[in-house]
Amino acid sequence: MPRPIHATVHTGALRHNLARMRRAAGDARVWGIVKANAYGHGIERVFDGLRGVDGFALLDLQEAERVRALGWRGPILLLEGVFEARDLELCSRLNLWHVVHCEQQIDMLAMHKTHQPHRVFLKMNSGMNRLGFAPARLRAAWSRLDALPQVDEISLMTHFSDADGPRGIGHQLQVFADVTRDLPGERSLGNSAAALRHGDDPAVRADWIRPGIAIYGSAPDFPAHDAAHWELQPAMTLASRIIGVQELAPGDTVGYGSSFAADAPLRVGVVACGYADGYPRHCSTGTPVLVDGVRTRMVGRVSMDMITVDLTPVPRAGFGSHATLWGRGPDGAMLSIDEIAAAAGTVGYELMCAVAPRVPFSVD
Ligand code: PLP
Repeated sequence: MPRPIHATVHTGALRHNLARMRRAAGDARVWGIVKANAYGHGIERVFDGLRGVDGFALLDLQEAERVRALGWRGPILLLEGVFEARDLELCSRLNLWHVVHCEQQIDMLAMHKTHQPHRVFLKMNSGMNRLGFAPARLRAAWSRLDALPQVDEISLMTHFSDADGPRGIGHQLQVFADVTRDLPGERSLGNSAAALRHGDDPAVRADWIRPGIAIYGSAPDFPAHDAAHWELQPAMTLASRIIGVQELAPGDTVGYGSSFAADAPLRVGVVACGYADGYPRHCSTGTPVLVDGVRTRMVGRVSMDMITVDLTPVPRAGFGSHATLWGRGPDGAMLSIDEIAAAAGTVGYELMCAVAPRVPFSVD
């Protein structure tokens, strides 16, 4: 028997979340973001649930090849564009749209011999200060691209730094609008948080939204709002089983560093899941876990292969009992990945992406 830890990707939840983001999009089209192997879910595993998108957006050519190999003929967008000139060959062969965010990428296009003209998203840095042309340089970049026979369609995009927080998107939205006002072409601005929190504004929805985290069922602005607030369903469950039970006397401690001591007799269940499975090492006593669908707490430290949980709320639990680390538990119980991420001082994105290769996945 393999270790009992297991992850499940829920196709129905992906479809539900995509429908939710379509509502947020209004008339705009939806890029489904599947970078980082579909936020750790696996491109092949999410494809069926997300085949209703208008296009897939991702980072590297190998992932684009995998999407084409699944039979997808629609748009695919390379969100960071090409890294070197020879990538343009594969872009043409796979019929990819690509972001152009710097002069070097325009130089590569200008040198490229192609029979098939390229569709590009010209990216503006409206304040995030990661990728993109500064506002003062954007129009010159647009003119350079427009003059190239290798380019037949130029769309415009930017990315918000604070769509999930109190600073909001107002300043970036204004900078983008001011600079691009009279330029032709489609626009794409909003990620999940922008589409959900600011999607009432048609300028935010624009022609394409670009949701990632929301289609995987996590709230982009936790803890201000949770997934249920946004009507999102978790697309991933990480579950395992109890493989041992200890009876603690008052004063007994559990795990490395003896960080937790029982103040009364306590039954502790040992769950086959540790940081080598991708469970965050920064979680500590109090982090929620479901045992047989009942909410209880982790006690002590996370080890490489195990965590330990308080069995007080589930007195009948024992060897073989079901443990849900995040996602769907038995009998409709739920445990949000965002809660676990918050307990570890991080975000749901990181936990999804960090599920270890040794954890077997299935799709339902
Ligand atoms: N657009 C771009 C350019 C991104 O880099 C990302 C992700 O970081 C997204 C859209 C999707 O963001 P989110 O997962 O927050 O919806």
